[in-house]
Amino acid sequence: MIPGIRAALKRIVKPDTLVHKVAERVQHGLWRYAPRYFDWKPNLSSIDLDITTRCNLTCHNCSRSVGVAPADESLSLGQLDRFFQQSRALGWRWRSIKLVGGEPTLHPQFGEILEFLATHHQANPECEVRLVTNGHGRRVRETLSSLPSWVTVKDSAKQANDHAFQSYNVAPIDVPKYQRADFRRGCFVTEYCGVALTKNGIYGCSPGAAVDRVFGFDVGLKSLEELSESAARRQFATLCRLCGHFKYNYGGALVTAQETSPSWREALERYEKARPVLTTY
Ligand code: SF4
Ligand code: SF4
Repeated sequence: MIPGIRAALKRIVKPDTLVHKVAERVQHGLWRYAPRYFDWKPNLSSIDLDITTRCNLTCHNCSRSVGVAPADESLSLGQLDRFFQQSRALGWRWRSIKLVGGEPTLHPQFGEILEFLATHHQANPECEVRLVTNGHGRRVRETLSSLPSWVTVKDSAKQANDHAFQSYNVAPIDVPKYQRADFRRGCFVTEYCGVALTKNGIYGCSPGAAVDRVFGFDVGLKSLEELSESAARRQFATLCRLCGHFKYNYGGALVTAQETSPSWREALERYEKARPVLTTY
């Protein structure tokens, strides 16, 4: 589909409306039956900074596996500095930078991270800086109340663990009808949310990075220079096999109770005994 038309439609059609639902159905159909004319495209001008795995909730089916594979891992200030240095050196124009987690406000140096972003914002005011928060608990809400005005906030206002999510921990390779899929094609996340940076590198998407954190393939790119559509698709060939979001392409249903398929159960058992050690960005 012509990229300009898709971008315009994305701006116009609001989530959770009837038009949006119809558009989603059409997308599923095009994705499955007319791949030459429609495919998800890694969005190389938007990035999720996965700054911490810390969270004050443990939602079922969390797409970072925060509850089922707990960790206390954070992107360091040195890594953030390197990311902005590389972006400047390569002339990489970010249209959108999101702070995500875990719960990003629980990063131990959240104030310093905002200072980095303030410098970036001054030099690139056209780049949206967004914080994606669960809005849960006093500490988080206090931090939200003191954010500078140039940070936009997406607050899901969660109060408990049972939200309707895709069954992230049900691997497509554990479900017969998806086993032969072309996993390099990814899913909507890489196009709508963009690529991701974690302490272990740059990925085509954040949920894929979280697959790597638990399974330990260590496929994160260690430099922004390496990032390209084909590099992201090479990661998807490994990661989308295990990521429950892939089922969205076929209209996979949302669930509230935790669902975990055999590949994930085995990986989580290994993780509990000895966590994978990945190289860092
Ligand atoms: S608030 Fe978000 S990151 Fe935290 S457990 Fe829930 S879904 Fe995962
Ligand atoms: S299926 Fe998962 S790993 Fe693959 S692109 Fe989508 S969110 Fe990323």
